Amino acid sequence: MKGICVLGATGSIGVSTLDVAARHKDLYKVIALTANNNIDTLYEQCLVHTPEYVVVVDENNAKLFAERIAASPIDGIKVLSGADALETVATLDQVDSVMAAIVGAAGLLPSLAAAKAGKTVLLANKEALVMSGDLFMHAVRDCGAHLLPIDSEHNAIFQCMPAHYVSGQSAKSVRRILLTASGGPFRTMPLDKLKDVTPEQAVAHPNWDMGRKISVDSATMMNKGLELIEACLLFNMKPEQIQVVIHPQSVIHSMVDYVDGTVLAQMGNPDMRIPIAHAMAWPERFDSGAAPLNIFDVKHMDFEAPDLDRFPCLRLAIEAINAGGVMPAVLNAANEIAVDAFLNEQIRFTDIPVVIEKTMQAFEVSEGDTLEKVLSVDSQARDVARQNLLSLAN
Ligand code: NAD
Ligand code: MG
Repeated sequence: MKGICVLGATGSIGVSTLDVAARHKDLYKVIALTANNNIDTLYEQCLVHTPEYVVVVDENNAKLFAERIAASPIDGIKVLSGADALETVATLDQVDSVMAAIVGAAGLLPSLAAAKAGKTVLLANKEALVMSGDLFMHAVRDCGAHLLPIDSEHNAIFQCMPAHYVSGQSAKSVRRILLTASGGPFRTMPLDKLKDVTPEQAVAHPNWDMGRKISVDSATMMNKGLELIEACLLFNMKPEQIQVVIHPQSVIHSMVDYVDGTVLAQMGNPDMRIPIAHAMAWPERFDSGAAPLNIFDVKHMDFEAPDLDRFPCLRLAIEAINAGGVMPAVLNAANEIAVDAFLNEQIRFTDIPVVIEKTMQAFEVSEGDTLEKVLSVDSQARDVARQNLLSLAN
């Protein structure tokens, strides 16, 4: 029996994780659930999973939640609040696995704490890895943690890697990785129409149902840029060993190209419960609840190279990883600010890469070798990006 802590339980990945956990109550006990604000969903989850701990980051909502739990039929749930409490529950002795499914930089400290405590980290929160880079990978290695990728592409790659592969190791028999992308909702839209797209259009992904931030990232292809950086770190690869491939049907979730000419691909329906169940059952397998792939429904599979003029965010991510040091952290912070401004209708869709590029230009490349440095660069880059938003508005 393993204990699991789900960071970001109320989000798209959190909900899918609990769906998988509910199918395997003989193997997983839910120890802790966390959310930022959404106490209605969290309450329903507590009725089903009766965790020992709940964290509601927002203090007022935590008070309201504690009152609701006190009046409920379930006993013994400890309700904590504040960002520090995320680290407390991610490192509890009775927790074996931590699902890192908070969106954005807010997930870095608890995910890193889980790695430092030697937990099995199921990593969905790509922003945490992109901003902290080697620091995160070294914490995993030095503290005896296991790192299992949840991002569907990275999970697919992990499944196609040599037997007994461990995240962060270099695999000499692998020539390159083919990182697939659907191309999002605007893959074929005329370029002059992109400036007028609305947040609702941008979050309507053709194949996947996800949180709002990652849906916008998929539409700009910053998601693939962040994933390229994530793949370099997880699989110890150089950026030039990773080829982004647009595959609009999202049947293949990525491929590994070996030195002997073999290419292994992982396929399945676009359902995040598949990579989640893979990581939760690893090194075994169990039912995910996802429908089996009907190969006869897959009429054909297309593959094309990405157009960096249509998707400047992907170009910026490649520039950031090639620059190295703190540049991926700058890219990530500026992207979070720009996406938020777009979702709040402060800037246009096509302004997102403009804000990011201007922010990156304001920074020198230096090593992000300490947590303090990473956090300070993250905060400075957010300030610069906010100024860039203002200059766009004027
Ligand atoms: P979401 O917006 O649906 O959920 C985010 C979760 O994080 C919620 O539980 C929310 O309460 C919590 N949260 C938000 N801000 C917080 C803060 N400041 N402090 C503490 N908690 C906070 O997001 P999602 O789509 O589930 O994505 C989660 C992560 O997984 C992201 O990093 C995303 O890139 C990654 N991911 C998601 C998918 C997917 O299919 N949704 C696929 C691959 C990777
Ligand atoms: Mg992905």
